[in-house]
Amino acid sequence: MGTGARTDPLAHIRDLFDLDDDVVYLDGNSLGAPPKNVAARVQEVVSRQWGRRLIRSWSEGWWEAPQRVGDRIGKLVGAAPGQVVVADSTSVNLFKALMAAVHGTDRAEIVVDAGTFPTDGYIARSVAELSGLTLRPADPDDLALSDTTAVVLLNHVDYRTGRLLDMAKLTEQVHAVGAKVVWDLCHSVGVLPIELDALNVNLAVGCTYKFLNGGPGSPAFLYVPTEAQPGFHQPLTGWTGHRSPFAMSPDYTPDPGVSRARVGTPDIISMLALDAALDVWDRVDLEDVRAKGLALTAHFRDLVEDLPGIEVITPDGEWRGHQVSLRHPDAATLMRRLVERQVIGDHRPPDVLRFGFAPLYNTFEDAERAATALGELL
Ligand SMILES: *Cc1c(COP(=O)(O)O)cnc(C)c1O
Repeated sequence: MGTGARTDPLAHIRDLFDLDDDVVYLDGNSLGAPPKNVAARVQEVVSRQWGRRLIRSWSEGWWEAPQRVGDRIGKLVGAAPGQVVVADSTSVNLFKALMAAVHGTDRAEIVVDAGTFPTDGYIARSVAELSGLTLRPADPDDLALSDTTAVVLLNHVDYRTGRLLDMAKLTEQVHAVGAKVVWDLCHSVGVLPIELDALNVNLAVGCTYKFLNGGPGSPAFLYVPTEAQPGFHQPLTGWTGHRSPFAMSPDYTPDPGVSRARVGTPDIISMLALDAALDVWDRVDLEDVRAKGLALTAHFRDLVEDLPGIEVITPDGEWRGHQVSLRHPDAATLMRRLVERQVIGDHRPPDVLRFGFAPLYNTFEDAERAATALGELL
């Protein structure tokens, strides 16, 4: 199996990452690999910004970092400046987004895609209980929406199968019944061009430690479009979302802009590690990233789909993200054995093997080495 004369416009980008060449890392959809510049930035933040500048750093860039880094992510999701804030975890941002979406509604139900990542379903359940609405899991191919639907929560890319949903079509469907849509972009940000503003998406959330390589537990993001900001009533009315946080007023007045989605003091070290990790995106075109991701995953699929006992559950057309999910009865053992051979993917119970391809640092040779190892084990 050779890579042939394949041209890869992103081949030089791998050098920007701190990776071992003997490891085939195919789990960047769970925890992205570190860009090399992150370690030096964290050192700078700790030694100089925190160490020498001490509390003065809050007014030297720290306080605004959630909005500033948010605008950088905005460029990757088709959001004009002032609409994305980086804060908290995806779970917490989902809570804020869903509570805001049902605030004051006279509609009866929240709809969530049935195959959703567990935390999204759990949070939607709590929001339903707190707001008195009902929660209805539904198949994205048949959402059965009506004028009783208040909000629909959809995962852009399914974490288990890797299926990509049609954001334009589904957003339109939701709007046609007068409901709001919340998109979870955890497995699509950094994977393909996204057009939140152009599609009039109501709200979106996503995490930054997967394809954005922000580091373990790096803060998540929340998109609130400008026209929705005055009506964005989120329940976690912490002081950093206040219009004048340093006035220390006993009354809460939300910030007029996207900062009203903030809650408490941002985790600066993680935030600025993410900021450094985002630098790589200034050097690449998302269209190239997408093209390479589709080619890498197609190549891997071709190499594994006829292996004994393997069923590919990721769609084979364009409607997929950058992972290939395989079903096999011995998935858990197979993945343990692959990891022993330095091929790192992951296992999702009961029987799914996931191989995530990050076009910024994965190579066609990675796909071949992983397929060969899997073939030998089978
Ligand atoms: C990874 C992921 C999350 C993670 O949520 P955290 O709050 O960061 O733990 C949530 N939703 C989806 C769809 C994910 O893929």
